[in-house]
Amino acid sequence: MRAIIAGGTGFIGQQLVRELKEHGWEIVVLSRNPGKVADAFGAGVIGMPWNNGWSSLLGPETTVVNLAGENIAGGRWSAAKKRRILDSRVRAGQQILRTIRQSGKTPYALIQASAVGYYGPCGSSPIDEYANNGTGFLAEVTRAWEASTAELESMGVRRCILRTGMVLGHGGALKKMLLPFKLYMGGSPGTGFQGMSWIHMADQVGAIRFLMENPETSGPYNLTAPGPVSAEKFAHTLGTILERPYKAPVPPFALRLLFGEMADEILLSGQFALPERLIKAGYVFRFPELADALLDILK
Ligand code: NDP
Repeated sequence: MRAIIAGGTGFIGQQLVRELKEHGWEIVVLSRNPGKVADAFGAGVIGMPWNNGWSSLLGPETTVVNLAGENIAGGRWSAAKKRRILDSRVRAGQQILRTIRQSGKTPYALIQASAVGYYGPCGSSPIDEYANNGTGFLAEVTRAWEASTAELESMGVRRCILRTGMVLGHGGALKKMLLPFKLYMGGSPGTGFQGMSWIHMADQVGAIRFLMENPETSGPYNLTAPGPVSAEKFAHTLGTILERPYKAPVPPFALRLLFGEMADEILLSGQFALPERLIKAGYVFRFPELADALLDILK
């Protein structure tokens, strides 16, 4: 079994490479800078540029995983940054589609990254994969991102879409949340009523491998723990584990001042997304509860 992972050098990709290697997969990482692949993983993981070489590796024993895209949380959303967030994702998908089409070979599957932002800001009712595409910038980005590889389905390729919540691990969003708590200034963004759909990194990569290896799976999957919480509950749980009490909600104007549009799209709104289809398919979560997930990472 061979995996070609676009964006395999990233926060999720690096852990996915480790998970797959442990389970006997041969790994090729597509990168804008293939030289850094050997530095990150050592010998045994091959780095390749996007524009040549990898189409000869396609075939029924190869699964392509597309995780590539400009980091969403890295800096304020200027018009140029928003363009990069959208274009980098759509271009990566289109390049994968083009390469597979031109190769004339059908891969075992395509695993396409996306995010729970697909559903847009939702109220307090839990949602599953049958909920509609919402409104807002991230809902637009994820719609275009998912659509960029959709044609593969009509070519007979099994395609699984990863509508991922906030991934909790050593790095990523959690790392950014720790500082205010450590300074005894931790609190929820705004009212704290908004949903926070999260997933432990072990389940993120475990679920991706499950979808890669399970030929019965296809379509959208919420990669979120079965216990999504409100932002307020998240902040209280984090404060308890860090032994730093929850201080006070952070007012929306302060978040807007610091983060601009990103504050409304990511921090002040959210979803209670349930992994309905993943559970039905038979995936068993290692960390279904938030406190256990945070304890595992932080202690
Ligand atoms: P990262 O930002 O860590 O890494 C993604 C990879 O994409 C990078 O390693 C890089 O690979 C490549 N990349 C970065 N910028 C660009 C660009 N402008 N053009 C093309 N490629 C680029 O992402 P994560 O690992 O955190 O996430 C993987 C995917 O899952 C992302 O697309 C993300 O939006 C999505 N996701 C992540 C969540 C999270 O909590 N982490 C939550 C929901 C969705 P290289 O430099 O080697 O080319």
